[in-house]
Amino acid sequence: EGTLSQLNLAVVGHVDSGKSTLCGRILQLLGRISKKQMHKYEKEAKEKGKGSFAYSWAMDESAEERERGITMTVAVAYFDSKIFRVVLLDSPGHKDFVPNMISGATQADAAILVVDASVGSFEAGMGGHNVGQTKEHAQLIRSFGVEQIIVAVNKMDLVDFSKERFDFIKLQLGHFLRSCGFKESSVVWIPLSAMENQNLVATASDVRLSSWYQGCCLLDAIDSLKPPHRDVSKPLILPICDVVASHSLGQVAVCGKLEFGALRASSKVLVMPSGDIATVRTIERDYCSCSIAKAGDNVAVSLQGIDGGHVMPGGVLCHPDFPVTVASSLELKVLVLDVVTPILVGSQVEIHIHHAKEAARVTKILSLLDQKTGKVSRNAPRILTARQSAIIVVALDGAVCVEEFSVCRALGRAFLRASGSTIAVGIVTRVLELES
Ligand code: GDP
Repeated sequence: EGTLSQLNLAVVGHVDSGKSTLCGRILQLLGRISKKQMHKYEKEAKEKGKGSFAYSWAMDESAEERERGITMTVAVAYFDSKIFRVVLLDSPGHKDFVPNMISGATQADAAILVVDASVGSFEAGMGGHNVGQTKEHAQLIRSFGVEQIIVAVNKMDLVDFSKERFDFIKLQLGHFLRSCGFKESSVVWIPLSAMENQNLVATASDVRLSSWYQGCCLLDAIDSLKPPHRDVSKPLILPICDVVASHSLGQVAVCGKLEFGALRASSKVLVMPSGDIATVRTIERDYCSCSIAKAGDNVAVSLQGIDGGHVMPGGVLCHPDFPVTVASSLELKVLVLDVVTPILVGSQVEIHIHHAKEAARVTKILSLLDQKTGKVSRNAPRILTARQSAIIVVALDGAVCVEEFSVCRALGRAFLRASGSTIAVGIVTRVLELES
């Protein structure tokens, strides 16, 4: 129907591998950044004496970030390919900014792993425990369920577009990616230069590259990704992001993205967690009214026959015969962010699951997981500190609509917050206490 399906693409990799440059370049080449805007960025970059940063600046939002010359937020930009509306989750590679990389990774359908091909830099990205962000990021996105990955072997201009260098990187990193659980058939390798615009949105023009590489460019590789699973055959799941109630009309409108199934005008829906049944009056998609919406669509739905007080953000519209799970005790696999205060049994947190937010307490720390292998390295540790990965149990003050991550990614990813910042991210591995 002319609407492209959305593909959330995380861009990860070691600091300075060229993530921002690559994203900025693609956006510019596809006309997503106006000449005027680009000119402004270039001028600003020159004034600050960082001319080469011009493209990466196009991804940055705030002046503060520009001062530092480093991307801090998960810059969200998008472009349309032949097949997808690609939403770029650019994520900075700097060590301190791992949290942003992660929030991008939890939303990603696929990822571009950018590596710097130049001698010494690729090796640094693969380096020891502390600096090997190429490895760390690859492990993280895999642990958040991302299966498809495009490896952008960047800065090929610095190695004279050498096939030997590309093959070496492919061999080394390929071995590691397989050990993380990526299937060989789900990994695509592309030699490119973001700076010199080789193999980005068109096949390489530089003969040093085109003489030995006849594969696709980055944009075509994106189009060859498997579209994210839009499960229309499963029963309806529509997490409510926002609610507008009109008291005078006695109507309630909700908006959100359909995760599973389809929704028809005039049909009955179950509103959870209240359990009320409502009738769908109208459905709006892209500001147009329609009679049916399907998984993947962002919609606004007006409901009738329901008390506005019973519909809230964090709730879910579902099929009357297939209510979503509602629970107040969850087992989570989490990764602790760069926190100062360790997480203990008894720690008070705020849990965020899709659009729901609830006070919660950590009731158990079941096991500590090895970062490399994901296997249990210790049972029942007393505390969790920065960058540790663990299986924990949390008890929520109130029940929320939730599913295990393997059942529904959107309802199965969680963020833990305390005193205004995110302290851990994770996925729901088990729903422990069902509300009847
Ligand atoms: P990020 O930290 O991964 O976002 O990396 P940036 O995009 O900020 O790039 C880091 C540095 O590498 C900048 O100075 C870029 O100009 C440079 N760079 C990026 N891509 C290329 C490339 O293809 N070739 C060369 N020679 N330099 C590049």
